[in-house]
Amino acid sequence: MTQNKGKALIIGAGIAGLSSAYYLLQKGWQVEILEQNDLSNNCSYGNAGMIVPSHFTPLAAPGVVAQGIRWMFDSKSPFYVKPSLSTQLLSWGIKFLKHSNQNHVDRSAQAIRDLNLASSSLYNEIAEKEDFDFELNQNGILMLYKTEKVAEEETELAHKAINLGLPVDILDKKGIQELEPNVQLDVIGGVNYKCDGHMNPMKLMKQMIAYLKNNGVIFHTQHRVTGYEIAGSTIKAVIANGKKFSADRFIMTGGSFLPELAQKAGIKIQLMPGKGYSFMHTPENPVNRLEHAALLLEARVAVTPMNGQIRFGGTMELASHHNKVNMKRVEGIVNSIPKYMPDFQVKLPIESEIWFGYRPCAPDGLPYLGQSSKLKNLIIAGGGGMMGLSLGPIFGKTVSEIANEEKPTVNINIFHPERFN
Ligand SMILES: Cc1cc2nc3c(=O)[nH]c(=O)nc-3n(C[C@H](O)[C@H](O)[C@H](O)COP(=O)(O)OP(=O)(O)OC[C@H]3O[C@@H](n4cnc5c(N)ncnc54)[C@H](O)[C@@H]3O)c2cc1C
Repeated sequence: MTQNKGKALIIGAGIAGLSSAYYLLQKGWQVEILEQNDLSNNCSYGNAGMIVPSHFTPLAAPGVVAQGIRWMFDSKSPFYVKPSLSTQLLSWGIKFLKHSNQNHVDRSAQAIRDLNLASSSLYNEIAEKEDFDFELNQNGILMLYKTEKVAEEETELAHKAINLGLPVDILDKKGIQELEPNVQLDVIGGVNYKCDGHMNPMKLMKQMIAYLKNNGVIFHTQHRVTGYEIAGSTIKAVIANGKKFSADRFIMTGGSFLPELAQKAGIKIQLMPGKGYSFMHTPENPVNRLEHAALLLEARVAVTPMNGQIRFGGTMELASHHNKVNMKRVEGIVNSIPKYMPDFQVKLPIESEIWFGYRPCAPDGLPYLGQSSKLKNLIIAGGGGMMGLSLGPIFGKTVSEIANEEKPTVNINIFHPERFN
């Protein structure tokens, strides 16, 4: 740690906020965090724990809209948009449609790859510290498919990944089964993204909070930010629970709530919450040990070995925040599992065993990361969407570099937070 640079105030204690605190601390900042809840849950806890340089294609991509429309008529499908006349959804939808093209995908791929690869190496560094042991395993993620159509699409994507310099193996049924000797796979083949990995996000979050507290970071929990005191182009203070919190630099995260937080500062950020579910399963037969995390592609289900159990996760419901569990969609996840992994006859979990979270999804599928143009002491880090956990450390490192007025290690130009203003 270096000398005191001043005070940095972070809004939000998800992976984006905690990682920002971690790297700001290393650069000598005095750090405080405002969090509206306690420190036991948000989107960063119950997710699938995957580190995904493989996800270099933004959510807005060709074919997504047509597939999405087909899925909307199936109550157990992995994707759903709640029809609504809300201006927020309409405006988001128009931008999503505009960006669902090959040009956008090609323009974004390298930048997303670089962000993810940098973040993945930072996870390796964090895991080496004695304060951390979060089951990090960088042994690849298996993309599994059952149909020729998806095999063809995934093989094409794998060739793009190879052209981007990512280590990828395209495997037939026998080749993919050899990677999972203890679990029977009913698939026609798969792709092994050797650049990917997985971890236990709950452990990471708890250990990160403990580390930050031990190193002097102050957490103000149950403090909901409701406004700002702004003079010209500078934030003077943030208002939470009727109190003012001043600082030299402000870092706005907030996950899927980022648009409300930004709007109060006069900044327009577009995000829709993409609700997803997960639950844990203990295999009846301990012999069925899964070695890798995997994505069951047609079903869009994530499978991650975690702490001797398996976490299954999936679905993307684009709608405003609501706390109801849609059991039909969870049933969709459960039903798809034995189709790929017949050893796992998973029972439908009861509602209290189902976790849900809201992915912060930008309409162009790119994160919002950088210095605000409007407010010169504000840095924004959010919109990680389906890869927000994966991107945590590079969000944090970039935030600390901007706060220090250093050139960010990774080129973040296309992630400008005010690109839709
Ligand atoms: C089912 C599922 C599976 C997923 N799997 C993966 C995966 O395998 N890999 C991956 O990389 N990503 C995955 N994700 C996505 C990932 O979990 C998110 O992108 C990431 O956790 C977002 O982190 P965040 O810090 O931006 O937001 P959050 O974790 O949501 O944290 C934001 C925090 O800000 C606080 N906040 C908001 N407004 C205010 C306010 N006004 N005042 C004070 N505090 C406020 C919130 O309370 C919250 O604690 C998954 C998501 C889901 C739902």
